[in-house]
Amino acid sequence: MRPVLYSIKGKIVIFAVIATLLPTTGLGLLSFKQNEMLISDSITRELRTLTDNINRQLNQWVEENTLTIRALSTSSPVIEGLTTLKQFSNDKNSDAIKQTQFVMASYLRSVQVKLDEILELTVFDDHRKIVASSASTPEVRESPEQWTHTSLTSGTIAILPAWNERYATATVSFVYPVLSYDSRLIGAIAATLDLGAFKNKLTEIKKFSSSEIVILNQNGKVLLGSAPGVDHQAALSPHQWELIQMFEESISYDGLSYPKAIGLAYASESIPVTILVEQDHSAIQAAWIKLRNRFLEFVGMFIIIVTSVALYMGRSIVIPLKQLINAVKGIVEGNLDIHLPAKRKDEVGQLTNMFNQMTDALRNKHAEIIAANQAMQRQNQLLQKLSITDGLTGLYNRTRLDTILSEQLARFKRHDRPFCLLMIDIDYFKTINDKLGHIVGDRILVAVASVLLKSIRTIDYAARFGGDEFMVILTETNSGAAIKTAERIRTAASAACLSFKEHPIQITLSIGIAQSRHDDTTPNDLIARADAALYEAKESGRDRVCCIDT
Ligand code: GH3
Ligand code: MG
Repeated sequence: MRPVLYSIKGKIVIFAVIATLLPTTGLGLLSFKQNEMLISDSITRELRTLTDNINRQLNQWVEENTLTIRALSTSSPVIEGLTTLKQFSNDKNSDAIKQTQFVMASYLRSVQVKLDEILELTVFDDHRKIVASSASTPEVRESPEQWTHTSLTSGTIAILPAWNERYATATVSFVYPVLSYDSRLIGAIAATLDLGAFKNKLTEIKKFSSSEIVILNQNGKVLLGSAPGVDHQAALSPHQWELIQMFEESISYDGLSYPKAIGLAYASESIPVTILVEQDHSAIQAAWIKLRNRFLEFVGMFIIIVTSVALYMGRSIVIPLKQLINAVKGIVEGNLDIHLPAKRKDEVGQLTNMFNQMTDALRNKHAEIIAANQAMQRQNQLLQKLSITDGLTGLYNRTRLDTILSEQLARFKRHDRPFCLLMIDIDYFKTINDKLGHIVGDRILVAVASVLLKSIRTIDYAARFGGDEFMVILTETNSGAAIKTAERIRTAASAACLSFKEHPIQITLSIGIAQSRHDDTTPNDLIARADAALYEAKESGRDRVCCIDT
């Protein structure tokens, strides 16, 4: 099989495929890159919007709960209880102290029970000692050391957000100062909040998003997550935690909610926690693969269409070219009767038209050449005939006679089969000529020639030797048989019905015969003997046959 590149069709197809593939793959890759950036930007934007929303909700949740704690710090049972305790501070076993502490604890329990998101409430005196708590063993064991510091007046975090094994939830504890009615610092109130309660908010937010949400403490430990199974036991490796703390951009990492995730982290302002939102990387990858497959399908379809068009175009060029090649091949082999259909108006059509014109011209020239050749052949044949025949009688001339005699002599010497030469002369022809004229003489010469041709076989030869002399060569014949033929000729000539002006003309012939001999070297040797025999026939009275060899 010929390589594809050797055919015009193959070249057109390869060019078309390259011309399609280069721009489409170039543009495809460019649009791929742009899409990649767009998708990445849109994911980052979506994740950022979500973290902003969660942050807002968390701020609100913390604010609502700290407001409650602040309200409790200004509640009369707390202020009055601490004031009473301060009054009896010197009396260690006072019943009043026990009574006040009991009343305060009861109050704290009753309040805590009503507040879902507060797990325990504890009140401290101005010596940072617990005076009452809703819990039997409070989480916050003492108020902060710097409780007299001004910052304490606005509240502070007593225990950072962390997983609380006792309550089996994530907790954060706040401390707020308690001021007397005359604005003196008389103690503090600590509240442990159930961060796990914020999960309800996460679940609500999650309804409108495909992302999963995780809240981490400042050490990267999971506090709560929206996805089932993501709890305090799930953990990020130190490396992942480091990555996530970039906070600005979305990153790909081994996620908590998905094996492979794209996530964005946000450091909350209200409490030291990190809000992390995650999307499934494989879902985004699937969207990518879908996009890539669409692109490949598009390119494939494009190539099929372009290849089909290229093949069609190639065929429209190659088929007429093949027709032309076959036609030229036919001309080379000598077939000029070729006419190609030229319906097209394009270059191929023009070429076909010119080809047809060329073959027409060739055909005409060829016909002219054949006609000229035939004429020449006829001329040649005529010339050849004229060169070996006598113009008046149509018999062989003397030149031809010499050739025949040479051939016969050679043949005789080869096969040793004799032949005979008859020399024939019209008696008194000069007198006839003189009396009746040359035209009648010519007629007589023609009549004698006719007698000769009728009297010999097809293998014999008759020639006019000159004037009124004729020669006959009888092949494969000895002198005996030759005498018989000569006699027949002589008789036939005498019997020939010739006339002039209705008067009959009588002619006679004298014939000399010579048989071939082995010592004959040239035709003249034989002619000389025949001539001698004729002389003898003339001398002995004419109208007779004489043979020298008998
Ligand atoms: P003979 O019996 O001895 O042969 O006597 P003849 O008169 O025939 O003598 P010869 O053979 O010598 O004469 C031949 C004559 O033939 C002489 C010439 O005028 C005549 N002749 C030669 N060629 C032509 C020719 O082509 N046409 C005609 N009409 N006559 C010819
Ligand atoms: Mg004569």
